[in-house]
Amino acid sequence: MTVKQEFKAESKRLLEMMINSIYTQKEIFLRELISNASDAIDKIYYKALTDDGLVFNKEDYYIRVTADKAGRTLTISDTGIGMTRDELENNLGIIAKSGSLAFKQENEAKEGHNIIGQFGVGFYAAFMVADVVTVVTRALGSGEAYKWESEGADGYSIEPCAKDTVGTEITLKIKPNTEEDSYDEFLEEYRLRSIIKKYSDFIRYPIKMDMTRSRPKEGADNEFEDYVEEETVNSMVPIWRKNKNELKPEDYENFYNEKRYGFDKPLKHIHISADGAVVYNAILFIPENTPFDYYTKEYEKGLELYSNGVLIMNKCADLLPDYFSFVKGMVDSEDLSLNISREMLQHDRQLTLIAKNIKNRIKSQLQSMLKDERESYEKFYESFGRQLKFGVYSDYGANKDTLQDLLLFYSSKEKKPVTLDEYVSRMPEDQKYIYYAAGESIERIEKLPQTELVADKGYEILYFTDDIDEFAIKMITTYKDKTFKSVSSGDLGIEPDADEKNADEEESGNKELFERMQTILGGKVKQVKASKRLKSHPVCLSTEGEVTIEMEKILNAMPNNQDIKADKILEINVNHQVFQSLKDALGNDEEKLNLYTNLLYHQALLIEGLPIGDPVAFTNDICKVMV
Ligand code: ADP
Ligand code: MG
Repeated sequence: MTVKQEFKAESKRLLEMMINSIYTQKEIFLRELISNASDAIDKIYYKALTDDGLVFNKEDYYIRVTADKAGRTLTISDTGIGMTRDELENNLGIIAKSGSLAFKQENEAKEGHNIIGQFGVGFYAAFMVADVVTVVTRALGSGEAYKWESEGADGYSIEPCAKDTVGTEITLKIKPNTEEDSYDEFLEEYRLRSIIKKYSDFIRYPIKMDMTRSRPKEGADNEFEDYVEEETVNSMVPIWRKNKNELKPEDYENFYNEKRYGFDKPLKHIHISADGAVVYNAILFIPENTPFDYYTKEYEKGLELYSNGVLIMNKCADLLPDYFSFVKGMVDSEDLSLNISREMLQHDRQLTLIAKNIKNRIKSQLQSMLKDERESYEKFYESFGRQLKFGVYSDYGANKDTLQDLLLFYSSKEKKPVTLDEYVSRMPEDQKYIYYAAGESIERIEKLPQTELVADKGYEILYFTDDIDEFAIKMITTYKDKTFKSVSSGDLGIEPDADEKNADEEESGNKELFERMQTILGGKVKQVKASKRLKSHPVCLSTEGEVTIEMEKILNAMPNNQDIKADKILEINVNHQVFQSLKDALGNDEEKLNLYTNLLYHQALLIEGLPIGDPVAFTNDICKVMV
């Protein structure tokens, strides 16, 4: 009676390839079999929609997973539509043939199909963990049942058998453990239950399991007995399919915690039910705190990806741009297939559309937070603002338009973070540039002599305290037609007050002095000149060209530093008394001029937070002035 039939040659190869390469984790075999069972029940459900003779009683439809440790078998049974002999032959005998896809196509007209299968390969994942797979099935409307059995690539057999009820029962003879792999776990109730929870929590029909539990034995002290209790393992209706109006903030918070997206409370959630060019549901979260590994290489961005309620990827990186890598959450789409590899996903048109959509939603959420919930936004910015600035900087500024209005910088005037738009909108008419000062901390910048003129003019200064700030701004270059200008850069575009000594005049009148000083300093500065920006401080450094002093510091702190130097200019305050001392020393006391020049230069370095080449020489110099 039993006739062995051969798989076709290509099928054999395909099966081997499948088993060894499509799936990286063995545990997903269970996801595939449960998805098939769910599809089989769905098919009855759809038939019942048009067939008056068929009533769909919810209670009658479920999936059951049973492990038999002693017999080393795992059984997945369903009360779904079952398979006829022909269907067994076609759907399980021909690899990459999907009965479910055909069903979907035939029933296209019907609303809201939820059928998962379409590739016709999932079933064979069973061979990753089983030596023998036995399928006993009885189709809806048929009195006959059949048994399909296979040991993998060798082929399969089909024979009639007995089965009382409609549906399918798949039994896996679990492989013995090998040196590298353990298969025992697929017979452990708790392990199976957690696999089901992980991948199949939102299958719409109950997945039942008998769980062995322990309880105190009656009448006996300190003794326990095992008992078996049936449990529905999956939660069935996922939160993202529920109506937003029915959900409370706590529901989202609970979901965030259950999913272990973070240990904090989310700052904001975004619930998307997209119904346009691309259909998907998503729940996204903006965390409140920076994860401890966020700014390290270890941090992996990505969203969970579901196809029709079934998890297909834990962290789908392609769904999030790097600059929004802090976002957590999940996406569920009917348009994606289950057995799709990472490489294929990258080129999936649907996925690209979803990613674009999501990016825009996150952006507008952040914008409205900035507008309506400033405090929350500032909190967010404290945690993840740096990432936004990295986003502006990376890819040669390709994303600056998306991100520039989300940036905040501390303002010298407001004493709090402000947006670029806020800054520009209150610029006085005569102010040409957007001024910024870079430094280690707000306190350090407050004391920078270079800010004196700009601050004296009453202009607002943005404080750049993050390494990335200046680099990001270099990418933006102009905002609303206004150019950014460092307070230490050469030309500040500000005219000095009339009652002060004219720096230009002083400079041409004291040419010899400035040249002498430059010679004394050797190649350390490009020029020594009369300052137009200093008010009360005697000295400061400014720069010419693209590289500022802050940038020099940052670049040189990098592992493969190329010893990049800013072109430094030593600026002397001609309104300060020390200037007179310098003038007096010139031609009269070379040693004194030498000493003063070095002292001033070293002071300027200290103010900038730059290292002094020879601290001992510097302290000796100070002592010389003292004695
Ligand atoms: P897919 O699910 O992508 O179609 P599978 O390899 O998982 O591919 O399954 C192949 C086909 O076998 C399914 O399309 C379906 O027709 C049939 N099938 C598998 N499992 C069952 C089941 N439990 N009940 C009924 N039909 C099934
Ligand atoms: Mg399948």
